[in-house]
Amino acid sequence: MSARILIIEDNLSSMELMRYLLQAFGHTTLAAFDGRQGLLAARYELPDLIICDIHLPKLDGFGVVRKLKDDPCTQVVPVIAVTAYAMVGDRDKLLDAGFDGYICKPIESELFVAQIDAFLPRARRSVRCATTWHATA
Ligand code: MN
Repeated sequence: MSARILIIEDNLSSMELMRYLLQAFGHTTLAAFDGRQGLLAARYELPDLIICDIHLPKLDGFGVVRKLKDDPCTQVVPVIAVTAYAMVGDRDKLLDAGFDGYICKPIESELFVAQIDAFLPRARRSVRCATTWHATA
């Protein structure tokens, strides 16, 4: 089983890395490169999970998550912030804003899919298991 994951990220190399890793483990990815496009994609596609950058053109990550959590159609979708913010208090700021969790940039390739899977229902997690993970690492 796998999930449909929307990635909202304006940095192309970061987007490509996340797509590559998620697809390598069987997830389907959808891409949006600014906040407004991401919001539209979220409402139209209703993905299983959303990964959202904070600094985005047109509408930043805080604006995106606020609108998603205000909308009954999208409020149940987990939204994970991916951010380079490293200041004390960011954790609370992100969770208060409505994010369900966050991952710090730069993302760690070996951990990223497992970090995302943790926010998915068991049936939607990637097909990876511990043994194949180590065998392919
Ligand atoms: Mn950005």
